[in-house]
Amino acid sequence: MFGGRFVFRCRILYTGSCQQVKGCLAVRHAHVNTQDKSRYYDVIIAGGGLVGTTLAAALGHTSTLAGKTVLLLEGGPCCSFQLQPRYSNRVVAINNSSQSLLESVGAWQHVLAARCAPVRKLQVWDACSDAAASFGRDDLARAVAHVVESDVLLAAVSRAAQLASSVTTLHEASVRSCELPRPGTDSDLVRVHTDHGSFACSLLVGADGAASRVRGAAGLQFVSRDYHQRALVATLQLSEPTENVVAWQRFLPSGPIALLPLTAQLSSLVWSTSTDEARRLLSLPPDSFVDAVNEALWKQFPRDSAVEWALRGLYRLLEGVSLAPPAVRQLQPSVACVEEGSRAAFPLGLGHAPRYVAPGIALVGDAAHRVHPLAGQGMNLGLGDVRSLARVLADAVSSGQRLGSMAGLLRYETARQRHNVPTVLAIDGLHRLYNTAATPVVVLRSLGLHLTQCLPPVKEAIMEHAAV
Ligand SMILES: Cc1cc2nc3c(=O)[nH]c(=O)nc-3n(C[C@H](O)[C@H](O)[C@H](O)COP(=O)(O)OP(=O)(O)OC[C@H]3O[C@@H](n4cnc5c(N)ncnc54)[C@H](O)[C@@H]3O)c2cc1C
Repeated sequence: MFGGRFVFRCRILYTGSCQQVKGCLAVRHAHVNTQDKSRYYDVIIAGGGLVGTTLAAALGHTSTLAGKTVLLLEGGPCCSFQLQPRYSNRVVAINNSSQSLLESVGAWQHVLAARCAPVRKLQVWDACSDAAASFGRDDLARAVAHVVESDVLLAAVSRAAQLASSVTTLHEASVRSCELPRPGTDSDLVRVHTDHGSFACSLLVGADGAASRVRGAAGLQFVSRDYHQRALVATLQLSEPTENVVAWQRFLPSGPIALLPLTAQLSSLVWSTSTDEARRLLSLPPDSFVDAVNEALWKQFPRDSAVEWALRGLYRLLEGVSLAPPAVRQLQPSVACVEEGSRAAFPLGLGHAPRYVAPGIALVGDAAHRVHPLAGQGMNLGLGDVRSLARVLADAVSSGQRLGSMAGLLRYETARQRHNVPTVLAIDGLHRLYNTAATPVVVLRSLGLHLTQCLPPVKEAIMEHAAV
């Protein structure tokens, strides 16, 4: 079963200045022999996406885990990274808590040496009413989030993982199947079968995305729902250069449209809409697409008199108790053109595993939970899992427990579900709340959004939860 094979250990090397990070790939070959112990790793991580690779880096940089070996298995090929002048159309908004984790594993410095854009304020507004709320301030010294291209972030965390001597990375090594520890036998190892042969470990972490094979093999359920929506992404050039530190999101009846800052004149589009509409938008000529984006950002939708009446009543009530919101709302930017070839669409859905752990198994990232991108939280939740699991494993080693023991893993599950379940439910609730133009719902959500804008403690509580 454990046939002699070559293990490819990839290393991303960087040269160049801050703006001109050049990457090249060196491949180190290590022989895995059927007779030697290199087929055993303390922890195997299935899935070298952003979350799995960050976990490998975190385990590799945790001093308590210094003697523990980690194998990162990624099904896709090993790609060399070279920063391109053109921005990638796939970006993620990283909150401050995720940034701190990336700093602690030595990855954030590589992001800064490449590029990222600070977000100092979020401005959200409803297309069906005048309700709007802003979070943060554009003159804040500390950004509320950073927008980072996914490939820049993956290269940064890959480099941090490669610098940890305990971490080995294998590409083109899909996990095909695994065997869980069998109760009643003396083996508490998990066996993992891949394209590169088979391995054994004390803990197998499923970081293999929403269609996780590890989750399936462990018999862990996944409650899921297809939103029948696509997130259309593109790189947009704004009509005028601005300071561009605000993330804009307008809730349209068909789904939210968001602009995330990249540079003074470039923003990244994430536009969630029905599958058919996304297909139509993808096929439009560039000029018509830009018109559609500007219409989605600016079009005045017909106002419902019941909504107007309810909002006016709330304004008067709040003014009576000196709780009026700031009178002037900053205006959203207009778009001048779309970068050629930057349009793409991704299917959207909800998913959550009621259990994140089983003996010798833990799930992290999208393998455990999948959310709509309207709150920019999917990746941040995954990095929260990484922080929590790394801490639990370090505690297990300090107290002499096995890495895959259920006692420790259950602490991880409880800690993360306390945070993830309310977040997943809140994001799904927001999606449902804003996916309709029905008058009673528009009244309720407009009142709620306006109240949020008038109550700084509520805004702070929302920001605090989103930042963890
Ligand atoms: C349009 C869009 C915008 C988003 N914006 C944001 C945002 O602003 N902020 C935010 O926090 N989140 C955002 N997200 C969510 C975020 O992108 C995901 O939550 C995050 O990328 C999940 O990472 P992951 O590593 O868990 O899973 P994945 O990215 O799915 O990675 C899984 C990895 O596992 C590998 N794999 C799969 N099966 C196997 C196997 N059997 N063996 C070995 N390897 C395997 C895959 O090749 C892949 O590399 C957005 C999502 C979308 C679609």
